[in-house]
Amino acid sequence: MSLSRHINADEVIEKCKEHPHRKHAAQDGRQTFHQSWSRDEDAAKAPKYTLPETGIPSKAAYQLLHDQTALDGNPLLNLASFVHTWMPEEANKLIQENQSKNQVDLDEYPAATIIHNRCISMLADLWKAPKEGKAIGTSTAGSSEAIMLGGLAMKKRWQEARKAAGKDHYHPNIVFGSNAQVALEKFARYWDVEARLVPCDASTNFVMNPHAAMQFIDENTIGVMVIMGSTYTGHFEAKCSTHVGSPCVFSTVVPQNLMIALVDEFQKKTGLDVPIHVDGASGAFIAPFAYPDLKWAFDIPRVVSINTSGHKFGLVYAGLGWILWRDESFLHKDLIFELHYLGSVEYSFTLNFSKPAAPIIVQMFNFLNLGFEGYRRIAIKDLRNARMLSRALEATYFTVLSNIHKPVKDLEGVEDLDEPTLYEPGLPVVSFRLSDKFKADYGHVEQSWIQSMLRTKGWIVPNYNGPEGSSEVEILRVVVRETLSEDLIERLIVDILEITEGLMGERLVAGLRPSHVFGPPPSHDNYLRDGEAGSPTSSASSSDLSSPSTPQSDAFVLIHKKHLLPPPPSALRLRVPSLAPSLSRSLSIAATSSPLSPIAMRAVLSCSPKAVGVANQPDKEHGRPDKANFGSAGEETGQGQSGFARQC
Ligand SMILES: *Cc1c(COP(=O)(O)O)cnc(C)c1O
Repeated sequence: MSLSRHINADEVIEKCKEHPHRKHAAQDGRQTFHQSWSRDEDAAKAPKYTLPETGIPSKAAYQLLHDQTALDGNPLLNLASFVHTWMPEEANKLIQENQSKNQVDLDEYPAATIIHNRCISMLADLWKAPKEGKAIGTSTAGSSEAIMLGGLAMKKRWQEARKAAGKDHYHPNIVFGSNAQVALEKFARYWDVEARLVPCDASTNFVMNPHAAMQFIDENTIGVMVIMGSTYTGHFEAKCSTHVGSPCVFSTVVPQNLMIALVDEFQKKTGLDVPIHVDGASGAFIAPFAYPDLKWAFDIPRVVSINTSGHKFGLVYAGLGWILWRDESFLHKDLIFELHYLGSVEYSFTLNFSKPAAPIIVQMFNFLNLGFEGYRRIAIKDLRNARMLSRALEATYFTVLSNIHKPVKDLEGVEDLDEPTLYEPGLPVVSFRLSDKFKADYGHVEQSWIQSMLRTKGWIVPNYNGPEGSSEVEILRVVVRETLSEDLIERLIVDILEITEGLMGERLVAGLRPSHVFGPPPSHDNYLRDGEAGSPTSSASSSDLSSPSTPQSDAFVLIHKKHLLPPPPSALRLRVPSLAPSLSRSLSIAATSSPLSPIAMRAVLSCSPKAVGVANQPDKEHGRPDKANFGSAGEETGQGQSGFARQC
């Protein structure tokens, strides 16, 4: 039988087993003593797709699933996700202590409800809800559920107004950028609202251009969803970029927030009051701390509701979102249910009824443990690490699409280069692609191979297509979270460059030989050995950069003849202000041990430390105020990411 795509793997496996029937028969009642043997035998009895007739021992079930989940990627190295993957020991303890509690049981677990409501109050204050108003909100399973609720509230309010005016209320539409996360499109489809997607491309920084958005707004528009922190590039939509070349730069309308200004103007002209919901899944936990003066939240009257994911930069594990309305009048009464059957009177306006109380309790743990300053320190650290990665990529083979590393003012003489407002605002996200020059020189290299090869080293970095309007652009993206330390970023930079050069055919990546899979097979014509080519570094054009010695074995170094001495990328000459000193340290070590090419070495070394003072302050590394949370040398806390604590 030839291998075809129709092979049923389970059938094949079944046929390969030795006498499965006799084996099962003989097994029953068999006494086994050796631990691992007994475990295998027990597990073998469990069917895969039907409920087992009788169960297997808890130890065997545990081991079976424990072993199976080992196939998952390592959450620490999952740079694809915005979702948080680490909490301090005390938070883990609180989760364990409270994991059997259902948040909805108000009477039974009153403390959980009080904590929930205090979280809402703290968020309302953080998002500048008007003191005179009555902000209202709830926790949700995540931003998706929160977005459903935000959208529904806008739809109900629109319908009511239309009915009152005796107008058609059957054709609602909602406007958002084509860069929107799938939750926004789900809202539109699940609740029968026409989704009007504003196309985004490189010319609009891959976010909604407010001018373009205005063309989609009419009397049937229930609202506009503005994304604070695009999942594609981390850009903030609410804030018009001040970066030259951005679509908003020519605007003469209030530059603080163009979308708001345009909708205000629209209302003056038409009388239509179009509300704005801010999707702050990531940004609503970054902007208040990193960019406290940025106007995007309830301090703008038109912003009626905001959602966020507690499990993203709220720094809680998966399973927690929040939505708040600036005033209870924006949460339509139709959406609020009065419940009596759990004891006292209770109000519910979520899609789900039951939900775990533990994530809410540890959200409060973070609020207490970190405070404003702690969240700010973590945001600053994440942004600094994201800038470092951006510069290293830009200085080598990549074009960086995210903006948070681009200064908005002259940095000459600036003391604290950590200050996020010196740069374009955005999430600590690095979106990048192979540069046009690279693609012209190495047309055989597919960008998606970088994703696959990073995966073999443990890193999970997605390569995906741009939003509608620029879906031909492939983007690699790294989300810099609390756990992605400077040390790991340095390792990531080395791995990305090493892999890229391996694909170029210039170098052998450790353990990987360039083959026809990754590029043209080496032939004597195309390739020269290092020795025969002379020293590639000595004739390189840049004299201002130190040429690290690269004593790799001749036998392992193949250099593409055609590209023997490419000029250093012009990005090399960019001033790179605050690359941490340890990067150059580790890279000079790398120079003697890693197979990075002289080009990459020079490029990365050129990001030399200018701001030694900044990165040398260990306290700035973490937000958690008490050292105890970070463990100590003698305090081993199991496995997993406990090691992270010590890195901070
Ligand atoms: C993650 C994300 C969502 C969805 O949030 P969940 O908490 O995963 O449900 C929606 N919008 C944006 C911008 C996001 O980044």
